[in-house]
This record gives sequence, C-alpha cells and structure tokens, in this order.
Amino acid sequence: MKKYTTLLLLLISITTFSQELNKDCEAIEKKVIEWRRDFHQNPELSNREFKTAKKIAKHLKSLGIETQENVAKTGVVGILKGNQPGKVVALRADIDGLPVVERNNLPFKSTVTSNYLGKNVGVMHACGHDTHIAILMGVAEVLAKNKDKIKGTVKFIFQPAEEGAPEGEEGGAELMVKEGVLKNPDVDAIFGLHISSGQDVGTITYKPGGIMAASQSFKIKVKGKQSHGSRPWASIDPIMVSAKIIDALQTIISREVDLTNEGAVITVGKIDAGVRSNIIPESAVMIGTIRTLDYGMQKQINDRMKEMVPAIAKSYRAEATIEIAKGYPITYNNIELTKQVLPTLQNVAGKENVTLIKAITGAEDFSFFQKEVPGFYFFLGGKTIGNKNPYPHHTPDFQIDESGMLLGVKTMTQLTLDYLNN
Ligand SMILES: [Zn+2]
Ligand SMILES: [Zn+2]
Repeated sequence: MKKYTTLLLLLISITTFSQELNKDCEAIEKKVIEWRRDFHQNPELSNREFKTAKKIAKHLKSLGIETQENVAKTGVVGILKGNQPGKVVALRADIDGLPVVERNNLPFKSTVTSNYLGKNVGVMHACGHDTHIAILMGVAEVLAKNKDKIKGTVKFIFQPAEEGAPEGEEGGAELMVKEGVLKNPDVDAIFGLHISSGQDVGTITYKPGGIMAASQSFKIKVKGKQSHGSRPWASIDPIMVSAKIIDALQTIISREVDLTNEGAVITVGKIDAGVRSNIIPESAVMIGTIRTLDYGMQKQINDRMKEMVPAIAKSYRAEATIEIAKGYPITYNNIELTKQVLPTLQNVAGKENVTLIKAITGAEDFSFFQKEVPGFYFFLGGKTIGNKNPYPHHTPDFQIDESGMLLGVKTMTQLTLDYLNN
C-alpha cells in the first residue's frame, strides 16, 4: 500500500509541476511574440548575425545563464545547471535570415538590406528562424526560473548560418560541432524544431529515423573531341555522352536501390556545354544533387555513380570524372529517443495533434549534431487554421501565425524536463 501511496504522490507532484510549467510558458507568450517581431524586423544573413547574437546573449546573461559568445563565428551558447547533477540535454535554434525582399504588410516587416555575394539585397526571416530564436529564449527563461527542479544541465545552442555560410566561409552546425559545442559538458541528447508555414497551428509532426534527407552535390566532367557539327564522325561528342550518363544515373534509382526501404533522388540540375549549333564541343560539365534517407543507400548510390560515369564515357571513347561532395548528413531521429519523447509530445499538444509524417527530401544542418549524439527534430505548426493558401518558406510572402509559438515553448520545455528528470 505504501508503495502505491508514494507512487500516487509522485504522480500528483509531476502533474502539478507540469501544470505550473504550462502557466510559466503561457505567462511568457507575449514576450516571445515581442522578441520574434524584433528579430523579424532586424534579420541578418548567415554568419553575419551580430546584433541578433548580442540580443540573445544579453537575455541569457540576464537570466544568470553561463553564456559563451562568438561560437562558430556568431553563435551563442548558454549553459544552465540544474540544482541536481544528471544528464546534459542540448536545445538548438537556428538564427539566420535569407536574402529575400519581404512583401508582407506587417507592422514589423523587414526593410533591411545587406551585401550578399557582392550584391545589395533585401534580408528577411523567410524561413521562420526568428520564431526559433524567440521560442528558445522563452524556454531558457522558463527553465531558468525552474532551475531547482532540473536534474542535470541544459545547453542552449543558438546556431548561425543554417541556410549555409557565404562561399569560402565555414559555418553552421558543422562548425559548431568542430568547435566542440557538444563537449564540456558532453551532450547526451539534442532537440530541435522547425516552424512550418504549411502546418496548422497547434500541431506537431515527426518521424523516427530519417526525417530529412542527406544532401550531396556532385560534378561530372566529360571530355570528348571537338569537331564541326556536320562531321560527327570526327568528334567524340560529350553532349551525347552526357545524355547517356544522365539516363543511366536514373536507373540507379529506378533499378538498383530498394525503394521500399527509403526514397532517394538523383537530379542533374545544370548542363554546360557548347557554344553554337554547328560545333560539337570538346567538353561538358554537369552538376546535380543526391538526396538520401539511409546511409547504406547513400553509399550504394555514391559507389555506383563513381563506377558508371567513367565506364559509360569510356564505352563511347570519351573520358569522364565525377566528384561527390560530403554535403549534409541525414536529419536522423534516433529510434529509441523518438519512442521516449513521443508521450511528451502527445501530453503537451494532445494526442490528436501529433502526427507521423513521411520523410522530406530537403536537408537541414541539425543533422551534423545528430551525427554525433542522439537527436530528435520535429515540425511545429505555424499556419493559421483555415488558411488554404499558405506561402512556402524562402518566399517574399512567407508568414507565420505567431500563436503557434507557445506550443513550441511548452514542448521544448517539457521535452527537456522529461528527458532529464526521468
Ligand atoms: Zn530555410
Ligand atoms: Zn529553416
């Protein structure tokens, strides 16, 4: 009997605590919206998030959180130690905007311009990373307030350059990992979210395993022999060889990989060859992208491309080389961790609002963290219910319904506590 009484008391205390937390999250919603509007109005490009980082650092310091600045150039890391020792969990928000001219009529619309690849461009939080910053700042405030109830340590990672560092620069999650952001104290698990302009406010979507694809770019160079266009027998035609290569690459997807396992994509996005109608050129260059959701399939595809490309060229008397970049890893939700966090998502959002989705062939650099430690990444609704025509991410009309952010604060807070305290 005593055992049950203790269990009951424990359950009651857990329930009251999560009710308290909910209240703390709700109390902070207004501030989160204000922060988001400020970031929205003052977006900064990848690796140039100077003012953004200052504001984040100021907030973390005001909460008494140990703060590191200039991590991976413009990143900010906060370390909050709970009152009892335990595991270490990291929470990540990406903080960069995009070279997009905002076309919304919001009172806090961005009119910021900046230099991008030598051009003057408009800057906009057109992917919703402004909401990610504000949500994580809110979570930091709630958790700092409840520090006495935390068993372990929380690392807040405000990551620059998710959209990709400017050419020739390092950046993003990869650089953060390289600089040791997951060490000292060593992170046991990491959580991240992305707001979605196409998903109803109040909902969460997730997938165990590969949720977003690994992305690798490739470059194929074909060398033939130039001739007059009227005398193809005098040539080795690199355009014809390129056509054979493109055709063959698609058979890797349609005839070699097991598509019942996961999807995979090879796209040739650009062919560059020739100057005019009556010249068969000497060479051709193709570039493209590979998307995979499984490392075994990625290796198979890479290996076969490397075998096929020179062999096909050779069979037509040409030469071809292929380079495949390392690219972004798979955004891979650890299976065990996903199982473990699902009840938390369902408790916070309501079971009916948490949906399993199919994989997305886009990529996300959160994957670099997940390559090092178990991680869980999910999507948060940011679309006004009933809006039939939401604008996609990275477009000038992109908009987020701010009422969706509260669920983000609640979910991240509860995920942290459930992970550390259980
Ligand atoms: Zn984006
Ligand atoms: Zn994004």
